[in-house]
Parts: sequence; C-alpha cells; structure tokens
Amino acid sequence: MNGDSDEMAAAERLTAVRDGIARAEQVARRPAGSVELIAISKTHDAEAIAPLIAAGQRVFGENRVQEAQAKWPALRAAHPGIALHLVGQLQSNKAEDAVALFDAIHSLDRSSLVEALAKAMAKIGRRPDCFIQVNIGAEDQKGGCAIADLPALLAQARDAGLPVVGLMCVPPADVEPAPYFALLDKLARDHGLPGRSMGMSGDYETAIMLGATHVRVGTALFGARPRAME
Ligand SMILES: *Cc1c(COP(=O)(O)O)cnc(C)c1O
Repeated sequence: MNGDSDEMAAAERLTAVRDGIARAEQVARRPAGSVELIAISKTHDAEAIAPLIAAGQRVFGENRVQEAQAKWPALRAAHPGIALHLVGQLQSNKAEDAVALFDAIHSLDRSSLVEALAKAMAKIGRRPDCFIQVNIGAEDQKGGCAIADLPALLAQARDAGLPVVGLMCVPPADVEPAPYFALLDKLARDHGLPGRSMGMSGDYETAIMLGATHVRVGTALFGARPRAME
C-alpha cells in the first residue's frame, strides 16, 4: 500500500471505532464524548501511528516502557498535545522512566510498585494518573491485584499520595466479558473511584454499556499484530 491508502485506512478504522463508541454511549444513556479512546500502538512503528495522529487521535497506549521510549519522544515533538498511557505490567526498576514518559499508568498492581511510583513521582516532579489493575478473573498468569487485596492496596496508594483515578481490568480470554466488566464497575463504585479502564477491540461496546470510561483499542485501529510480539 502507498502512504495515501494507509492513511485512508487508518482514518476509516478510527471513524468506525469512534462511531461504535458513540453508539454505545447513546444506548447506555451516557453523555456523548464521555468515553476516552486509548489507541494501543504496541508493536506498531511511527509510520503506522502517524496516520492516526493525522486523523485526529491524540491518546495512545503502549505496554512496554522501552518500546515507548524508543518511539514516542520524536512523535511527540512533531505532534504536541499527545497523551501517552502505559497499559502493560511495570517493573519497579522502570518506575522512574514510566513516570517521566507517561501521562497515565493503568497497571498499578502491588505494594512494591506503589512505593516505587511514589518515590519516582517525588523525584521527577510529574504525577501521572494511576489506575489499579485488578485480576478480575482470578487467573494465575494474569497481572493485577487480587480482588481481596484491593482495599489495602488502594489505601496504601492514597496514603502515599498517588493520584489514583480508577480501576483497570483485562477479563479472561474466550468467555463472555460482561460479568467481569460489571464487577469492575461495582468495585470502582464501592471505592469511590471515577475511572474504569476496560474494553478492547472485541468488546469495547459492551464495556461502555457497563461503565467503561477508558477503552483500550489496538487491533481495530491498527490491524492485527504479529502474535509473538504480544
Ligand atoms: C494489547 C492490549 C490492548 C489492546 O488489545 P486489542 O485487542 O488489540 O484491542 C488493550 N489492553 C491491554 C492491556 C493490552 O495489552
């Protein structure tokens, strides 16, 4: 494909996702524009990202600190006003790099990371919004804190002065996600948190019906990723 058709395809995919979001907002009787679309650009290079920026998308997400450090400083310099969200697991030794680069962190999931982020924010002088990731399906291999550990982790994060704005989840694969979205919504409400980061390419409309404030959409905007890169 030449550059023009890439750009066209990206703009069309963005329009389709925005239409889906608008439809779900309307069905759920939620205000138009109340859901934030985070374009998940992991594994995609600057050439693939530029057409989405040209089409007006300004909020992007990555799952690896190093990959984001390699790609985004140049793109941001060229396109002011971009917000960058970290949606992948964060090692404590990368907390400073993450705080320096990202505007929001969706993967706060343990006590040691609360400490590392609080220290990093004090040192760097930036305070990215934090979402606590909940292991909503109690899966062994998944990131996120156990539901039972959420109250203590949230209290610790608030005591440490972290700007906790909401909860995030990735429901189990290949099962109906709605019950998990409903549960995350309830947990957020119980704890007085406004943000619900939930819903991906296959289920963002369902997530919006159930209260998502931030949807994380990759494949529906960029096309398929090579599986080995996830
Ligand atoms: C990759 C990823 C997404 C986007 O997934 P798609 O199915 O491509 O939309 C969303 N959230 C997280 C945490 C991810 O790692």
